[in-house]
Amino acid sequence: MLLRRLIRTTLRHFPMLALAAALPMVAMASSGSSSSVPMVAQLAEDENVEDVIRSEPRRSRATEEPATNSVPEPSAAGDQSPAPDAEQVVVPIARKIAPNIDLKEIAPLPEPEPEEVPTSEFSEEVSLEQPSVAGEEAPSEPLVDEPEEPVPAESFTLLGKEVLPGTSTRLAWSPQIQIAGLSQITPVLVVNGVNTGPTLCLTGAIHGDELNGIEIVRRAMYDLDPEKLSGRVIGVPIVNLTGFQQGSRYLPDRRDLNRYFPGRKEGNLADRVAYSLFENVIRHCDMLVDIHTGSLKRTNLPQLRADMNNPDVAEFTRGFDRMAVVHSTGSLGMLRTSAVDAGIRAVTMEAGESLRIQEHQIDAGVNSLNSLMEKHGMISRMFVWGDPEPVYYDSTWVRAEHGGILFSEIDLGANVSEGEVLGYVADPITNEQHPIRSTSNGRIIGMAVDQVVMAGFAAYHIGTEAEVPGE
Ligand SMILES: [Zn+2]
Repeated sequence: MLLRRLIRTTLRHFPMLALAAALPMVAMASSGSSSSVPMVAQLAEDENVEDVIRSEPRRSRATEEPATNSVPEPSAAGDQSPAPDAEQVVVPIARKIAPNIDLKEIAPLPEPEPEEVPTSEFSEEVSLEQPSVAGEEAPSEPLVDEPEEPVPAESFTLLGKEVLPGTSTRLAWSPQIQIAGLSQITPVLVVNGVNTGPTLCLTGAIHGDELNGIEIVRRAMYDLDPEKLSGRVIGVPIVNLTGFQQGSRYLPDRRDLNRYFPGRKEGNLADRVAYSLFENVIRHCDMLVDIHTGSLKRTNLPQLRADMNNPDVAEFTRGFDRMAVVHSTGSLGMLRTSAVDAGIRAVTMEAGESLRIQEHQIDAGVNSLNSLMEKHGMISRMFVWGDPEPVYYDSTWVRAEHGGILFSEIDLGANVSEGEVLGYVADPITNEQHPIRSTSNGRIIGMAVDQVVMAGFAAYHIGTEAEVPGE
């Protein structure tokens, strides 16, 4: 423990030590041709590759301006809310205490709430939480070691149930879009630690065919002991339940749920699902990790997508151990974008490809979530050597120039040089072989699996190491 602290302290005061290994790559990237190529981050995740073009370039440290969408003033919501000590009075009817369930044990499914809880109740509760932070609760935000004096947690209400401190439970969320009698509930796992701390939310399978995230949420949450947790973890392993059951990325109306956040109560189906999740669950989070995989037969190195132009988000990415971080401003309607707009620090985590369960990718995801929780003082891990820092990337896509069958010559995660052949597109009729070459020095952070492609298909996602966000 002591040694670990020492190493951490050293790294905190001499962060360049941790980065020393990355420097030659940075130098190489900036001296190569990539300096003349605009640094445009692209997406392949929850997202069509085309969203890429909309991403704003990452601002360099020198030109960095204060973010416009930082955390809103708590007072804005607090104005019309009752005083913090009125909390007891506000709690409406008889308390429905969630059963304490050992998440490692098999348990019956949670019961759905008969009625939708009015959203006003939720906004009240959200605004109540803010003043209580100013009161006796320890501020949860800074990246610090475990607080010296843990403060006992209070119970909190989610989805109409009160979760007592030091307990874990399964709750039920329903977006209320189906025939009432046939309606399925979506399980929500909650661990409320004995001590106060931040609320971390984990969402998986917003795209129903993205399976690695479901398993990442399960492993990260079922490892938690509420008696040793400071803060809360809320996990929705399968957000898009109907899509999941059909092996489909989309909602039943063929819409992409990750384009409709924060949703509208009276909107289309996707709007309503998004609205219900956002109001009933997401607004309770201080931090959010939305877990995805590559789409359309593409695979991704485990990585975060984060808007590095937002200082709060940039700081948040530092907690994720050695994970790659790719700058992307995100698209309108994405969960992470909407969460950041609502003052929640949020990133997308990408791991592997859709419709598969990939042990390596899952491991990497769980490890970096554990690292995140430790850095925010929520848990205490076994001995860990130092604090590996994430590696930051700007990125570009290399596209196929011809139709045919794509055969890759390199592997995911490979370091490549400008001009290097990454793969071939073979024309099955003429037998022509068209090489695809890397446009820059960097690392393959995402790529298409071998398949039939047409000209313009985004085949390789190349990350070039970027400057670390400001200290
Ligand atoms: Zn996705």
